[in-house]
Amino acid sequence: MLQDSFATRLVAWQKQHGRHDLPWQVRDPYRVWLSEIMLQQTQVTAVLEYYARFLQRFPDVAALAAASVDEVLALWSGLGYYSRARNLHKAALMVMEEFGGQFPAQREALQRLPGVGRSTAAAIASFAFAQRETILDGNVKRVLTRCFGIAGFPGEKAVEKQLWALAEALLPADGSQMTAYTQGLMDLGATVCGRKPACTVCPMVDGCVAAQQGRTHELPTPRPKKAVPTRHTVMLLAQHGERIWLERRPPSGIWGGLLSLPEFADSMALERWLECMGQGDVLPSWPELEHVFTHYRLIITPVPARLDTLAATGVQESAGQWIPLQQALEAGLPAPVKRLLQRLLA
Ligand code: SF4
Repeated sequence: MLQDSFATRLVAWQKQHGRHDLPWQVRDPYRVWLSEIMLQQTQVTAVLEYYARFLQRFPDVAALAAASVDEVLALWSGLGYYSRARNLHKAALMVMEEFGGQFPAQREALQRLPGVGRSTAAAIASFAFAQRETILDGNVKRVLTRCFGIAGFPGEKAVEKQLWALAEALLPADGSQMTAYTQGLMDLGATVCGRKPACTVCPMVDGCVAAQQGRTHELPTPRPKKAVPTRHTVMLLAQHGERIWLERRPPSGIWGGLLSLPEFADSMALERWLECMGQGDVLPSWPELEHVFTHYRLIITPVPARLDTLAATGVQESAGQWIPLQQALEAGLPAPVKRLLQRLLA
């Protein structure tokens, strides 16, 4: 079973194929912490230069705490996500004031530092203090969901909880393996099990669910698309002879300034409107039409009607106009309205 051999495979693979020359692969918690914060939203290649510059200016946590936050921000400039720099400075002060200048070794205590979440705390605890704590960042989630066939968006609470439990169960029994193991998790996710996984060179391939079942493209499950709200409208195709009644939409909002069909919340409102317009017949509704905007779905119920005589005091001409159907089709119309008029003409 892959679960039993996962740590052994990973450690052996990391020793042979993993990364060994990153400047923060040391036991110094200050350097590990600094690199982990920088790597949170930034690629290794971009971090290397900043890391070296930071260490030169702030060789230890005391130097960083003694600096002004403005100086830290200035040195951080270009790395982005500046709250990381502000938290870095706050955390340095906390290490000096609350922990006597020494980083705590326990994951729970490390998590109290501003900007340090559970996974970052675990990385510091395992790299600098050989604690049996697991990381679980985006790369690790990808590896685990594929290896163990875990479906469901990993950002969902229940899935995340399952992944934390699994990640903890996979830890090597021997704490002395923690550096290679944690680095192995990072390396496998970053260099082998990426968006296009290189399964043939992966140490997990013969036990990996995604590789064995051809599901690497569907795991991890992507973030679910937000449900788009649905709105309903009733559109009236009122014809008088060869002409159709169209109204100009307000200049802003959807279909701003275009000619369109009059809309109603329901068929009662539509019938009241028709009574004011004149005498005629409402015909059976056409099948519903769907139009998708970026932020909602519009379901249109088209209702055709024929007016034989127009009331002398009908709807004011300023609200709309009777336009020959052929001419209306040449005007700027919303796409679904154009489709309806084409159908009417046909
Ligand atoms: S076998 Fe492929 S999908 Fe599975 S962990 Fe390795 S690289 Fe990822």
